[in-house]
Amino acid sequence: MRKDYLLTPGPTPLPPQVQEALSRPIIHHRTAQYRALFKRILSGMQAAMQTKQSVVMFTSSGTGAMEASVCNLLSPGDHAIVILGGKFAERWQALCKTFGVAVTTIPVAYGEAVDPEQVRAALKQHPEAKAVFATLCETSTGVAHDIQAVAAAVRPTSAVLVVDAISGLLAEDCRTDEWGVDLVVTGSQKALMLPPGLAFLSVSEKAWMLIEQSKSPRYYFDLRLAKKALADDDTPFTSSVSLVVAMDEALKLILEAGLPQVLQRCRLMAQATRAGVEAIGLSLFAKRPSNAVTAVNVPAGVDGKKLTKHIQDRYNVTLAGGQGEMAGKIFRVAHMGYIGPFDILIALGAIELSLLELGGSVTPGEGLKAAQAVIGNLSPVGTR
Ligand SMILES: *Cc1c(COP(=O)(O)O)cnc(C)c1O
Repeated sequence: MRKDYLLTPGPTPLPPQVQEALSRPIIHHRTAQYRALFKRILSGMQAAMQTKQSVVMFTSSGTGAMEASVCNLLSPGDHAIVILGGKFAERWQALCKTFGVAVTTIPVAYGEAVDPEQVRAALKQHPEAKAVFATLCETSTGVAHDIQAVAAAVRPTSAVLVVDAISGLLAEDCRTDEWGVDLVVTGSQKALMLPPGLAFLSVSEKAWMLIEQSKSPRYYFDLRLAKKALADDDTPFTSSVSLVVAMDEALKLILEAGLPQVLQRCRLMAQATRAGVEAIGLSLFAKRPSNAVTAVNVPAGVDGKKLTKHIQDRYNVTLAGGQGEMAGKIFRVAHMGYIGPFDILIALGAIELSLLELGGSVTPGEGLKAAQAVIGNLSPVGTR
């Protein structure tokens, strides 16, 4: 009779329409039927990514598209700037190293957001830098970076701006074309409400010029092959057909609700979560908190690793702990995609009871009350 609740920053819960689509009989990918479907989901992704530029899909987790960005844009010996500040930003640095790209890092303390002036200064000091790598939502710290301001610093230079929006897309506003972001990378298992397995990137004209020049080795992730196939609404290799079928349903839900409404709903989920944890007496880890995931400091006297395990084992509520050096110090509650207001109340209820059971000083109900006050004020447009 066990009932599970998933509130992790990927994978996220699946809407019933998506689950149903995943169980349909499979179709062949080299067919007119598939090509029409593929064309439709890519155009849906252009809407979700707020771009008119081409969108490329890979069958991989999000990191595949991150790797594709590095090896297609840059050659060994090229120079890049990486904005740090968390585990995922560090992945950009590791990928650059893998492909022999020289990196200048912009240090950002965990929990803080980058100061765009640092980006401007790094670009001035390194005019040879061909790319700047940034993160929209740093899932490991719960920070949302100001990509609009970062883009304003990069746009006047010859460098391209690459943004990891794997958890950020559809949770934070990401105006790809308007702000001038050259490559936006995302994955299926976060706010897109799909299982893991698909990765996407939008590619600007400025970026395609670098892609044509890159001397890095690449095969499966060669964006030139993807571009050629795109002309026929096709992929160079077998598509993950079932995931694309399911994605058609997920995008229908997102686009019928409307992008501003989806972002607003996510913002309210984040506000309810933040109000709830603060009313419990806990503090937020992120100085510029994202709407995708809330990172919460584990209170003194409570074992952080035990806390998430207890919430899982006793209440079947899956939250995320901290990654790397943040393990045991923070826990994270996701509120993107199909996570709704009453999921937030479940998470807060489990947090309150678990803190109490592990020796924390908590008055159960305080967090719920604060979150309910936010949820009760939800706008009536499709937010319930
Ligand atoms: C989830 C996540 C990733 C990793 O994506 P995978 O799908 O696990 O490869 C990268 N960056 C951010 C910001 C993420 O949230």
